[in-house]
Amino acid sequence: LQAKQSNTPISYYRAKENTSSTYRLELESSLFKALDNEDFELYYQPQVCVRNGHISGAEALLRWSDAKHGAISPMEFIPILEDTGLIDRVGSWVIEKACAFWKFWQDEGLIQPEQKLSVNVSPYQFRNTGLLVSVKSALEESGLSPNDLILEITESTLLADDENNLAILNSLKSLGVTIALDDFGTGFSSLSYLTRFPIDYLKVDRSFLMNIMDSTNDAHLVTAIINMAQSLEMKVIAEGVDSIEKLNFLKLKGCDNYQGFYFSRPVSGNEFIRLINHISHMEAC
Ligand code: C2E
Ligand code: MG
Ligand code: MG
Ligand code: MG
Repeated sequence: LQAKQSNTPISYYRAKENTSSTYRLELESSLFKALDNEDFELYYQPQVCVRNGHISGAEALLRWSDAKHGAISPMEFIPILEDTGLIDRVGSWVIEKACAFWKFWQDEGLIQPEQKLSVNVSPYQFRNTGLLVSVKSALEESGLSPNDLILEITESTLLADDENNLAILNSLKSLGVTIALDDFGTGFSSLSYLTRFPIDYLKVDRSFLMNIMDSTNDAHLVTAIINMAQSLEMKVIAEGVDSIEKLNFLKLKGCDNYQGFYFSRPVSGNEFIRLINHISHMEAC
């Protein structure tokens, strides 16, 4: 099954003021009002089973459109949210909205029980007890099962204040939530963290996938990561799969799931549901 989405990429605002402090201050003050103005939105990128092509879930990705500058990349505004401390409130909003929508779609029969929701969590959200509180209340208020929620953390979460973060991760695990290590291989954490922390999934960063068709070294690295994850009984998700050749490579290597432009870019909630329906309809035929 190959369902390709033909949606046009968003072109993010980029200008020479990008680096100026006025620009940055404008973004900051606009971000302070963004929650109240409802300027944030969640997009969803399907996660797909490498073996059978079924949609195994989706990653919720934050989108922000500023009134003056238009769509700004999360790579640009997430660091500002982190610097200003706004990440706690916005991060809670992301978890709350994502859980509420997923449960709504489940109740409508649009999302199947085996399909899981992934949400990104910044290392900054580990600096206080807010994360645990917001995950608990998002699950309680939505009624979503903790088994349906995967939290994506990054390697820096394992490096900073690791005793505290380990305790929070263990509490999240005991709620029944799944933990994925995002952008694996790009940080500087030691491999021993993989067994010290309760990690269920490894997400291979898309920089490793970029050149696997041309670089045997990168291909060997991805193979080694998949093999290591499997020996540690973790599932592996590859990011940045943008061609059938890369998908076939992952199939050969026994990777579990993938995300990438080959299947679909991140899309709005409505488009995601349309995509899922279209595919299950095709399968039923
Ligand atoms: P991430 O968590 O690693 O998310 C995957 C990113 O890779 C997404 O970028 C997605 O659009 C992109 N991607 C997926 N497949 C492909 C592909 O085949 N080719 C290419 N070129 N790109 C692909 P996006 O949505 O721009 O997000 C960037 C980063 O911003 C995320 O990386 C994540 O670190 C952060 N982010 C996004 N939403 C949130 C959020 O709600 N909370 C936090 N803390 N961080 C977020
Ligand atoms: Mg992620
Ligand atoms: Mg990632
Ligand atoms: Mg990444």
